[in-house]
Amino acid sequence: MPKNPSKPKKYGDDSTIIAELDALRRELLGHMHRASDKKKIEEDLVVFRFVYGLSRKKWMELTGRPDLAAWLAMPLRENTYVALQRMQQTLENISHAAGHDDLTGLARRDMFERSLISEMERARRTKSSVSLAILDIDDFKQINDSCGHVQGDAVLRAFAAVLQEGTRETDLCARFGGEEFALIMPATPMVKALPLLERLMTAVRHLDIHCPELNFGIKITCSAGLACYKGLGDLHPGEFIEMADKALYSAKQKGKDRIEKAPFKDIAPDWSDKTLVNSSEKSFFFTKQSNS
Ligand code: GH3
Ligand code: MG
Ligand code: MG
Repeated sequence: MPKNPSKPKKYGDDSTIIAELDALRRELLGHMHRASDKKKIEEDLVVFRFVYGLSRKKWMELTGRPDLAAWLAMPLRENTYVALQRMQQTLENISHAAGHDDLTGLARRDMFERSLISEMERARRTKSSVSLAILDIDDFKQINDSCGHVQGDAVLRAFAAVLQEGTRETDLCARFGGEEFALIMPATPMVKALPLLERLMTAVRHLDIHCPELNFGIKITCSAGLACYKGLGDLHPGEFIEMADKALYSAKQKGKDRIEKAPFKDIAPDWSDKTLVNSSEKSFFFTKQSNS
């Protein structure tokens, strides 16, 4: 620490503050670009800066600028609780935005994958079932073609709302990409997931989305592939997704607007290493039997 640290600069007018913050922002951005060029980034830092003389009111005005919106401020002379709460809310908003799709507000694929891994692990530990459905809007391209992309987007939002409203807090609805969606239903066996999916499909059929180009509302249907993991054997999350995906493909092949179930892959536990007779004894028994 220097013996005589220089007194922090007091900002006189807004233009000085903006110029200083701009210079710092450019410097930090330049550093971030250089760092991301390197293959391996060794560490990331949160950078705090004490801006002497800057009021909260002024800061709120400044953060209206999109290039400063990600900056966080904490006034040190007032009640820090309020500022910390705001900071936490901002962090929650940022992390929600990172994990969720802008158009529909549903989880993005990477968040879906993380959730699937942990729900499958929980199912394996507790020997309970987790169901997975992949849903795809039927003939969605035609909607885009006849009503335009903006209406297509409205359909995607309405479809996402049906999923969100028709499922439990503990279920995870995700936009898989395009007009494909996924639904993770923890602690839900196939027999319970099926009526839930049927209810969702009925709600989708009842949607009536206004389209100015048409004299009537847009009607949609969807197809779904349903798979269930009972937590009995080992199943890779990729395989689980593939099971639901194949069932969805089969629903499309059979004429759309329907649910197809994937066959179970983990019906019984793997007894191979718990058997009372070892494999050489088994082959002995079989040899004896076939000779008699
Ligand atoms: P199928 O019944 O076999 O699923 O046919 P489909 O027409 O629904 O499927 P296809 O894969 O042929 O077309 C999907 C279309 O979805 C094509 C693509 O332009 C459109 N799409 C993907 N993402 C978006 C989006 O974010 N907004 C809009 N409006 N359209 C999208
Ligand atoms: Mg489709
Ligand atoms: Mg599709």
